[in-house]
Amino acid sequence: MGKKPKVPKVIVRPLPGDIAGLACKKDNTIELDPNIITERERLRVTVHEAYHIAEWKATEKKVDRISRQIADVLWSQGYRRTSL
Ligand SMILES: [Zn+2]
Repeated sequence: MGKKPKVPKVIVRPLPGDIAGLACKKDNTIELDPNIITERERLRVTVHEAYHIAEWKATEKKVDRISRQIADVLWSQGYRRTSL
């Protein structure tokens, strides 16, 4: 068993074009655009980028599919963001 990975740092900043989120494995960071319209979309993008960090070699197609499934379950169970 390796060391438990550190939780990625989440940075909210305007991203170029229509990019909603970015993940950087080297820096262990997730970046989210502040203009993501809905909380549900924000949850999806957060799970998506966390998935990239967790399984860096996964294809975009897989990351997109799995992260949607996970975000849908979390959302349906009432998981929501609180102020940190
Ligand atoms: Zn992606």
